[in-house]
Amino acid sequence: MTLQLPENRVLLPILAAVIVAAVAVGGWGVSQAVRAPQAPKPSEPTFPFLCDKCGALFDQPRSALSDETFAAMNSPQGAAIDCPKCGAKSSAYMPTRCPACGKHYISDSARGLPPSSDRPARCPHCGVDPVVWQIQHVKPEI
Ligand SMILES: [Zn+2]
Ligand SMILES: [Zn+2]
Repeated sequence: MTLQLPENRVLLPILAAVIVAAVAVGGWGVSQAVRAPQAPKPSEPTFPFLCDKCGALFDQPRSALSDETFAAMNSPQGAAIDCPKCGAKSSAYMPTRCPACGKHYISDSARGLPPSSDRPARCPHCGVDPVVWQIQHVKPEI
């Protein structure tokens, strides 16, 4: 009999308990990973464009846009791309959706034109100015 045996008798059950716990946790982790729903693949973002020539409204995926176009879309100058429907060059712009009638139109800012007080950005379909419409119909959050 040495002094280590009693220690082992105490340590072994603890060690066994730790192993059991580790296996349980490991198994739980695996089952969680299996049960977790597969994260959906991020779908490629698409961007709406409206052709000024033929009026076609279509979505372009990011991969169909050149880096120059994508940069222009995010700049005040705006971006114009070739229309895939009628073939017009640099005729399709990112449209504005009228909040009143729901139709799309190309605003001056989308064409890269500076805002002008003589030319209010009204919807060509119903004549509503979206900024005025928002003020009249959308209650500000307090
Ligand atoms: Zn077109
Ligand atoms: Zn409208």
